[in-house]
Amino acid sequence: MATIVVTGGAGFLGSHLIDRLIARGDDVVCVDNLFTGRKDNIRHLIGNPQFEFIRHDIVNPLYVECDQIYNLACPASPVSYQYNPIKTIKTSSVGTVNVLGLAKRCQARILHASTSEIYGDPEVHPQTEDYWGHVSSTGPRSCYDEGKRVAESLCVNYHRSHGVETRIIRIFNTYGPRMDPNDGRVVSNFINQALRGQDISVYGDGSQTRSFCFVDDLIDGMIRLMDQDETTEPVNIGNPVETSMLELAQTVIGLIGSQSEIVHMPLPKDDPTRRCPDITRAKTYLDWEPRVSLASGLSSTIDYYRQLRDTDDIWTNSSHQHEPEATVPV
Ligand code: NAD
Ligand code: UDP
Repeated sequence: MATIVVTGGAGFLGSHLIDRLIARGDDVVCVDNLFTGRKDNIRHLIGNPQFEFIRHDIVNPLYVECDQIYNLACPASPVSYQYNPIKTIKTSSVGTVNVLGLAKRCQARILHASTSEIYGDPEVHPQTEDYWGHVSSTGPRSCYDEGKRVAESLCVNYHRSHGVETRIIRIFNTYGPRMDPNDGRVVSNFINQALRGQDISVYGDGSQTRSFCFVDDLIDGMIRLMDQDETTEPVNIGNPVETSMLELAQTVIGLIGSQSEIVHMPLPKDDPTRRCPDITRAKTYLDWEPRVSLASGLSSTIDYYRQLRDTDDIWTNSSHQHEPEATVPV
């Protein structure tokens, strides 16, 4: 049994991770400023003696004792991370320094949540971990992409200079229950639009691709990466099945049996054209590969949003879409 800090623990991925750590017997300290996270994601854990919640912003130093740290704090949807871009950069830079400093003082192993976005709009396909990326340092996504790149650099330099035990997971698009229905990400937008009988907002012609990983698979890979001693190199975790946004819209409509129509809207500026992980490293070091199919994962996610529709006020808000100035014409 270990004491584990999870920053961003009230968010989508963090709350699933905490459930898994608690179930295997660990004590968990959830640190979150509730910017995009929700108390509802962790409400079932309040009162559990293995669980503690600290409302805290990682841009400020944190003093707790722990054996391991998962650093997930950072808004993840383009709409959320572009809402206050300077804060997004501070979270990934100043915040990551603070969390690495905590790891150094406690001699705790730290896993940092990086992203496929560090590859930008990739020119190499599928993306291997040794690809350096094709990233705009000034575009609307740069606050997130460059923040995550500096965070990776901080991790390797704390490892080299101070011997901090670091792990870096490069997460590709992950979806599942507890994604905020209004955060503007494609899976939550499409499902909630279809459940509401609204038009499905496909940006551009819908030929751009993503590779969607179900949350249970992702969390399995994340814990395996933290607990192995083979590598400190970054590891891609994602599902290598590539899907276009048009195909995703059609699949969601089919699974829900919705009457919604597909409409095309302007493509956000610098929207990556193709994205697909090479997961050879994950297979080699973690003996990991995803198990949940897109249809099965989407069905679980649809069930979650149906339940939310019947019980929760946040569902009644409308889905976020990109602001016109951050888009390019279709
Ligand atoms: P999320 O927005 O649901 O969770 C992020 C959490 O971090 C929220 O609870 C938020 O309140 C908290 N947070 C943000 N800034 C903070 C700060 N300064 N101090 C303390 N807490 C803060 O997003 P998610 O999908 O759960 O993503 C979790 C992590 O995984 C993020 O670091 C994200 O960049 C990374 N990631 C996610 C995906 C994905 O597809 N879900 C893909 C790539 C990377
Ligand atoms: N997208 C879309 N309609 C939406 C939301 C997103 O077509 O309502 C597209 C978006 O342009 C991108 C893809 O879906 O090509 C994934 O977007 P998301 O915001 O989920 O994450 P990203 O991978 O771009 O960070």
